[in-house]
Amino acid sequence: MTARAADLPGVLATQQLTEFLSVVADRPGGPAAQHAAVECAARALDADIAMLMMDDGVVAAYGVTVEDVPAYAISEVVAGRRSALEVGGRRYAAAVATIDGDPAGLLVLGRESAPFTAEEICLLRGLARVLELSLRALQTTESERRYARENDRLLDFLNQRQRLFEHLTEVQRAIARRAPLDQIFDTVTVSLRGLLDVDMCCLNLLDRDDPSRASMTAFAGVRAETAMRLQHLPLPTAGVSGLAILGDELMMVTDYAASPIAMPSMSAHRLASVMATPVHENGVVVGSLTVGTYGRTREWDKPAQEVLKAYAEHVSLALTDARTLEAMNQAFHDSLTGLASRALFLTRMEEQLAAGSLAVLFVDLDRFKVINDSLGHAAGDRLLVEVADRIRACLRDQDTAARLGGDEFAVLLPGIGGAEEAKPIADRILQALREPFQLQPAAGESYISSSIGVAFSGAAEHGAQELMVHADLAMYQAKKQGKDRVELFAPEMEEVFQATIAMETDLRRAVVRHEFELRYQPIVHLRTREITGVEALIRWRHPEVGVIPPLDFIPLAEETGMIVPIGEWVLREACARVAEWNERRSDPSATPRTATRGPLSVSVNISAVQLEQADLPDMVRAILDETGLPPYSLVLELTESLMVDHRPETLHRLEALKALGCRLAIDDFGTGYSSLAYLRQFPVDIIKIDKSFVDDVVDEPTAAALTLGIIQLGQALQLSTIAEGIEHAGQLSSLAGGNCELGQGYFFAEPLTGAALNELLFPA
Ligand code: C2E
Ligand code: MG
Ligand code: MG
Repeated sequence: MTARAADLPGVLATQQLTEFLSVVADRPGGPAAQHAAVECAARALDADIAMLMMDDGVVAAYGVTVEDVPAYAISEVVAGRRSALEVGGRRYAAAVATIDGDPAGLLVLGRESAPFTAEEICLLRGLARVLELSLRALQTTESERRYARENDRLLDFLNQRQRLFEHLTEVQRAIARRAPLDQIFDTVTVSLRGLLDVDMCCLNLLDRDDPSRASMTAFAGVRAETAMRLQHLPLPTAGVSGLAILGDELMMVTDYAASPIAMPSMSAHRLASVMATPVHENGVVVGSLTVGTYGRTREWDKPAQEVLKAYAEHVSLALTDARTLEAMNQAFHDSLTGLASRALFLTRMEEQLAAGSLAVLFVDLDRFKVINDSLGHAAGDRLLVEVADRIRACLRDQDTAARLGGDEFAVLLPGIGGAEEAKPIADRILQALREPFQLQPAAGESYISSSIGVAFSGAAEHGAQELMVHADLAMYQAKKQGKDRVELFAPEMEEVFQATIAMETDLRRAVVRHEFELRYQPIVHLRTREITGVEALIRWRHPEVGVIPPLDFIPLAEETGMIVPIGEWVLREACARVAEWNERRSDPSATPRTATRGPLSVSVNISAVQLEQADLPDMVRAILDETGLPPYSLVLELTESLMVDHRPETLHRLEALKALGCRLAIDDFGTGYSSLAYLRQFPVDIIKIDKSFVDDVVDEPTAAALTLGIIQLGQALQLSTIAEGIEHAGQLSSLAGGNCELGQGYFFAEPLTGAALNELLFPA
């Protein structure tokens, strides 16, 4: 045998190598090829035993059982420390070749008869090398196959992704074109059911009015009757869907029937496996998206979970978007009247100003507060709705009406040639709002009026804000001119307004710097000509302008609320001064000539704004205490308009003032709306007949008759009467003849400075 190898080593070697190669290449798969390789190597080199070791383990053996392979002895041979192996009591000459690669290995041969020659060992190395290469090739195909398998999976995955993508794109399109929510939800449930290959899919959303309950809002593969029953369910009883909402996390159940959280009704429907994940609106959980199978259980793998989550995210997107849209709509519309909001109005105005000329109307109701306060907010709201309807009815299609807030409305009239063209429309609105309103079913009709300002702009001539200011100024002017009217904007209004603003600043400063003074106009007993009291009248000594009369700044002081501190100063100053004079008058040693006369009363004008202050009676009481003026000596003059005001607080406050012991007078009587009936309701002591009657009392028979009528009425109601603005002796005699008790006017004295009155009272 040895001779054969030794004789023809080259030939044999080539033959055997070819044979070996074909065996190795023919047999696919690792272990088979390894086994074939070992057998082939043994035969080629006439060995009795052969072994292939990989990573120190025996992977194939020939002529010996795997357990009998002497692993330690082999390692000794490899290390060159021995040349023979003992197996089963026999001794074999050993030949070893290493196989490089990963894993590394050894091809080991043993022959009982004779040691291996150098050529044989060389051949063995060649075989090992072939084995190494073929193993490597085998490994490569193995990994390629694995790679291909992965590729398949990847492709599959990509296909699935593609389908998911296509489905979600459909949902996204529906969201983007703002399809109705229920339509989007239907798309979601149907699409998800198909994509995940489940039997049912549903969307449960928290009830808007009661977020502790949820309702099935959309579904696919659920019977309509079943869905009907799953409405307004308390969350904890709403099964997996409810738990997903409560926990704000994905919930899965593989065997629903056996699950402790199963809803009996759903198990009855053979619900087998179910999975739910929360949906959100603006990041807050508002519901859940659920999928389930009937009759067949299913493991919810990662991809299925991901798909469900992706759909839930799209539902969240749709919900958040719809809510944003709703909020935007709300921002652009007045919820009460449905008219445009200020924001929308301004946007439209900007658009239309760029395109052409337009007019803006500012409409402010004149008596809204009175109606709101007396009839209640519900009636007030009805009034506003009705006003909106009437304004709308006066407009063309292209016009926009807006509610700017409170009782303020605005109208945009595009394509108008000038302010005069807008005037008829404003007049129409004015007229429409004068018609009676039926605000309460059983109650009578209510009347209001409005003040309307009109402003006009040519194309791109003014900015939207600027035009709003113009219309507002014109409206303000309409109010000032007596309300219930239309005013067109004029540039002077801006100057007047600027001046008003400047005056407001000055007025604030005046309060701090004490720029006010009081004048005292004597009130005289008409028959005895005796001074019985004085009316305190304010003046403003402006550092630059000089003395400003009250009518020029009191309205602004009232508008800005500054009348409150100013009025308090007037009251304190007047009471203190008169208390001082009275003290002097009562001292016989100091002023013997006036000693017999009674104390003077002081009349102080009180503005309606002051009367709105709940602490007015306390303030008056404190000042009376402080100055020592007896309450009876103080007369508070109020204007008639107060009596038209029906608010109960007004009456209560007047009664509180009366309770202090001071007297109340109605100023400028006859000029306002007050009917005689009011006089009985209000705790009034004095009527001051307006100067306009006194002016005409001599020459105009009607004025004379009216004046006498007022005086007689006063007497009938046991009220004192004071005639204002007596300038001539003729007026005095008419009034005195008509039994008017008191009077004041230039005929007796103008409003005097404190010093001047002092001289009059206590002549030197
Ligand atoms: P009023 O309370 O009716 O005061 C009478 C006004 O008539 C005073 O004008 C007085 O100067 C003027 N007057 C008196 N006799 C005659 C006359 O014979 N001929 C003419 N032509 N006028 C006469 P005044 O001081 O300019 O005050 C105007 C109004 O300003 C007052 O009308 C009152 O309503 C208001 N007022 C004045 N002082 C105060 C105040 O301290 N507080 C408040 N809230 N209002 C005040
Ligand atoms: Mg007065
Ligand atoms: Mg008056």
